[in-house]
Amino acid sequence: LSLSPVDVSEVCIRQTRLFQPRAKAANVEIRIETSPSELPKISADRVRLEQVLLNLLINAEEAMRDGGVLTVRTFLHESGSAVVIQVIDTGIGIPEGMQTRIFDPYFTTKSAGTGMGLAITDKIVRQHNGELQCWNSTEGTIFQVTLPVTHSGA
Ligand code: ADP
Ligand code: MG
Repeated sequence: LSLSPVDVSEVCIRQTRLFQPRAKAANVEIRIETSPSELPKISADRVRLEQVLLNLLINAEEAMRDGGVLTVRTFLHESGSAVVIQVIDTGIGIPEGMQTRIFDPYFTTKSAGTGMGLAITDKIVRQHNGELQCWNSTEGTIFQVTLPVTHSGA
């Protein structure tokens, strides 16, 4: 990992804006909700973090065949020692019983999927001593990345 101090909200905003043309073409409305108070910078590999975001944005868009809303949210974890990113879509949801398998390499439900996106995403998040979680909610399908502000490095 090539670690440097990273402003997570800034990376999220930038990566989401780059995704805007693709979202628009898919009839997906993007909402960015960043923390009102400034988040502490985290020690992270910026390029890998961008890849995490991109993988989650692509999956969110692909889950919304008829368009929808894609929300990217950042906030400080209640412990105060981690930064949280949520990527939320109003798409098809994660099928019951699949939650545990979707992080597996090569697991895909798409005809042209590689099944590598979440495996790579989870690996990168773990390399930062963070955690990737997902669940279905009334708001939509939530993929949540929790990244500790300081960590021992990998
Ligand atoms: P791929 O996108 O190539 O299928 P991923 O590892 O990115 O591979 O995702 C694995 C599987 O997880 C997908 O095929 C899909 O079934 C499920 N999945 C991922 N993201 C979402 C999402 N936002 N909503 C619903 N299901 C999802
Ligand atoms: Mg994918």
